[in-house]
Amino acid sequence: MKTPPTLVREIPVCFPETYETCRCRFLEAAGKTAPPTRVFSCPLNDRLATETLWIGPDSARNVLVLISGTHGVEGRVGAAIQLDLLNRLPSLPENTALLLIFALNPHGFEHNRRCDGDGIDLNRNFIDFSRPLPANPGYEEIAEAVYLPEAERAESFARFRAKHGERAFEIAVSGGQYSDPSGPFFGGSAPGHGNRAAEQIIAHYSLPGRRLAVVDIHSGLGPYGHGELICDHEPGTAGFRQAMQWYGAAVTAPAEGTSSSVRKEGLLDYRWHRLMKTEGCFVTLEFGTYSIDRLFNTVLNDHAAWKNGDSDATQKSAAAMREHFCPEDANWRELILIKGRQVIQQAFNGLNHDRT
Ligand SMILES: [Zn+2]
Repeated sequence: MKTPPTLVREIPVCFPETYETCRCRFLEAAGKTAPPTRVFSCPLNDRLATETLWIGPDSARNVLVLISGTHGVEGRVGAAIQLDLLNRLPSLPENTALLLIFALNPHGFEHNRRCDGDGIDLNRNFIDFSRPLPANPGYEEIAEAVYLPEAERAESFARFRAKHGERAFEIAVSGGQYSDPSGPFFGGSAPGHGNRAAEQIIAHYSLPGRRLAVVDIHSGLGPYGHGELICDHEPGTAGFRQAMQWYGAAVTAPAEGTSSSVRKEGLLDYRWHRLMKTEGCFVTLEFGTYSIDRLFNTVLNDHAAWKNGDSDATQKSAAAMREHFCPEDANWRELILIKGRQVIQQAFNGLNHDRT
């Protein structure tokens, strides 16, 4: 029997071990890309940066934007899809450019954390900081339990779940909180590095007025190996309709309760939605790994280890975080590359088929 072609051989090339190797490969591949290309870097410090690469004409009306590392540690998954695309770069459709944003949160990528160096979860950070910070009363109720040993934490969480239900529990833990800087899903008290970098990138490449297909790549939530396309545009808006049109019935919507994700404050999406009043759309491509209980335990253990400044515990946690957000399993990694290719194709098709 003939073995069907697989993407397994791409895995060592597309999934380097560290932030540094991913960044080198990204810049190396960028250097080999035929012009017209532009690169633009948003440094965090002298070792870490968000890197961007624009391929295609400056004046392109349509732009596919692929983002990796909004949640640092998940960056290896997003970078894998970016590297795979760079290694097999197709000729772009007319009037179309590709913008790759690598490691929006480089600190988290380097340290195997979701949050950045200020404890900020970038995907809760896009709020109006001139207004009072949003409240999360559910988080207040569980905040002390977050740092308890795992067994005691589980007991306390079980009481909360019994009282308020599963959805309320998920919102309490992961909906976003603005009161505990050491805690999980902390939205910050000012724009973080990735937020400022996003502003610079939008301005640098003159994105307002262009037609954008943005895909922000994440991992760690949902069924193992499944790539869920999550749309956080409000139902009834142009962006919501565009996402359904381009990506089809597979698209899920937290606002309608069809997603693995719940509605959240301060998503990166909301910044890009402002560029998509009449056309274009933003989707999150979320790759599932292990259970939601394991997700919460892994992330909460990580926050407890960093809060306590225990280097043995942070090292152990780094390994658990890496495995949760980017499993070693070659079959899982192959699914990521396959789905990544499909979504990129759908985005290019969408940008070009109903061109105005
Ligand atoms: Zn994520």
